[in-house]
Amino acid sequence: AKRDGKGRYQLFDARGDDTMSYRAALRTDLPAALAAGQLGLDYQPVIDLGSGAIVGVEALVRWDHPTQGRLSPADFMPLAEETGDIDEIGVWVLETAVRQVAGWRRSMSHCKDLWVSVNVSALQLTSAKSLARLEGILADPTICPQRVVLEVTETALATNIDGGITAINRLKSHGARLAIDDFGTGYSSLSTLAALPADILKVDRSFLAGHSKDAASAAMLEGILGLAGKLQLEVIVEGVEDVEQLDVLRGLGCGMGQGYFLAGPGPSTVIEALLAAGT
Ligand code: C2E
Ligand code: CA
Ligand code: CA
Ligand code: CA
Repeated sequence: AKRDGKGRYQLFDARGDDTMSYRAALRTDLPAALAAGQLGLDYQPVIDLGSGAIVGVEALVRWDHPTQGRLSPADFMPLAEETGDIDEIGVWVLETAVRQVAGWRRSMSHCKDLWVSVNVSALQLTSAKSLARLEGILADPTICPQRVVLEVTETALATNIDGGITAINRLKSHGARLAIDDFGTGYSSLSTLAALPADILKVDRSFLAGHSKDAASAAMLEGILGLAGKLQLEVIVEGVEDVEQLDVLRGLGCGMGQGYFLAGPGPSTVIEALLAAGT
């Protein structure tokens, strides 16, 4: 397959004259991908900016497609929502991630408080079957549900706020915590935030990227950190890409950060080695 000018793949079908869009091709392959063992998880460390220690890891799904190579979730998770495969994939992601991190907690004594963060889409919260399965995973005390963070975007919650909160509270009843992902980019108002049972704000990387460039982004980042402090929410600023940005966050007294400069996402073997090297 070759990329066309718009960055899409054009696959020729058996007749050779017709084209099938990249998305349509992936849609055909997606239902079998999980059973074929083509999905995998990378983990990205979340760093305590005071101590420099890895305090948590975020699970990020990837698809090793037999012909298209390694695909990022942005390429196939929207499709998974359309096809309904999100239910199976979402259950697999949570199950795999909590087991992996529970193993690290047991095998490395300095990692006994390590938490794991998993992205949850709106559809997983609205499907009763999906929700029941997620709850089943969190009901197992051996995976330590208190060390599980569920990341949901404001936008995902805004579409069905009451149903979303009810679903989240069911998951939280087992001890899991809620992080609002990409905070500041959604459509929800500050009053919506006050209504959400949030524990952590993950500040969208656009605020940090803009901090040194425009006064408005700087004011907003500082405002969000102040607000989070007043609401007693923990904060993770996303997209720490260089030392200047790290210095900005340290100067603002920000609790946690995530980004390529601190540590990029990596396969479990690489992250395990990174954890083992810490003390
Ligand atoms: P997200 O939850 O906001 O995840 C952070 C994304 O930013 C990841 O992209 C990560 O690789 C990337 N990133 C990390 N550090 C930096 C940085 O310093 N700079 C920049 N520019 N980017 C950074 P990734 O892995 O491609 O994931 C994209 C999105 O796909 C995620 O955004 C999340 O919304 C979604 N996603 C990933 N895994 C899952 C999953 O298991 N389930 C669901 N429903 N969605 C998922
Ligand atoms: Ca996330
Ligand atoms: Ca995010
Ligand atoms: Ca995002």
